[in-house]
Amino acid sequence: MMQFECKECDKSFDTQRGLHMHIKKHDMLLGDYYVKNYPRFDKLTKNPIEFKNAKQYFSRDFNTTRTMNLWFEKAPRDEVKKYILEKFKKRIENKHLKHAPSSLYLKTGDWPTLDVIKKLFGGYNAFCGQIGVTPAYGDNICKEFFEDYSDQEVWIDTRENKPLGFEKSYVIKLDFGDYTLPPKNYTHTHAERKSFQDFAATVTNGYARFVREIERCKSLGCFLFIVVEDNYNNIYKTNSAAYKKFNMGFVFSRMRSIEAQFSDCCQFVFSGSREDSEELIPKILCCGKKLWKVDLQYFWEKELEKNGLDRRKPETLQEVQGNKPRSTFQRRLHRRRRS
Ligand SMILES: [Zn+2]
Repeated sequence: MMQFECKECDKSFDTQRGLHMHIKKHDMLLGDYYVKNYPRFDKLTKNPIEFKNAKQYFSRDFNTTRTMNLWFEKAPRDEVKKYILEKFKKRIENKHLKHAPSSLYLKTGDWPTLDVIKKLFGGYNAFCGQIGVTPAYGDNICKEFFEDYSDQEVWIDTRENKPLGFEKSYVIKLDFGDYTLPPKNYTHTHAERKSFQDFAATVTNGYARFVREIERCKSLGCFLFIVVEDNYNNIYKTNSAAYKKFNMGFVFSRMRSIEAQFSDCCQFVFSGSREDSEELIPKILCCGKKLWKVDLQYFWEKELEKNGLDRRKPETLQEVQGNKPRSTFQRRLHRRRRS
């Protein structure tokens, strides 16, 4: 049986809880006890690791994601690769993950990002091969994804309260999700549209109900894309400006837990905006199975970065001032040009 030994007086305990209760007798805070007896330092800054709880203290090698990423850039390449491989193996094991996680899982969970891994190991699939797991979403994006699907008829669920605008659409009661294709083109693929607030509420308070919805989807051999209508890079700002604020750490840990259980029948993607959802959802529905094992968030984000400027740049200044700007980007541009 594992023993927990007090480093101050050598007394041992059967449980960590017992040890923690005992430490108070030395008139010490838990953090002080660990920092004194098990000093740990940020690999980049060499500052002591900040203590929040014992589990966090021993699992962290950096105080912030920023210092972690800087170390990845600055430290010798081989050392970084070795570190990342070991870290991944350990975390996948501890979390009992069946597959290597998605880009969204990595970045919300403070793991090295997909771009860092691609740069160091040549590709995610190659990297996963080295640690003996397959990625949850390891396929490449298909060429059909880049075609124009704007004239495709989309079926919309009767309960969808803010339907997106498509050229052709038809409202009907759907089993799950808000959008799918009519039977003649059906791909067993459904999309659920969510504002950031809906998304956060669904994966927290609505967790159990949402899991039942995904299970129903899975039992019918279908796949659900949960499309969140916000830019991932904006959501912390969106959340802190909102009347009802969510604990983002908790929201994302619930999202990750859904991915860990159901990566074979659902995935999350942040579309950018409502306008972007109108473009993305028909692509998702039409490409169907070709996208089930694609890390869509990763590719769509690149697409937004690449096309963002061209796609959203208003044609003339006149037009910008005449129309109500629709996206944050346009609003920013709008302000900058006027000032
Ligand atoms: Zn003691």
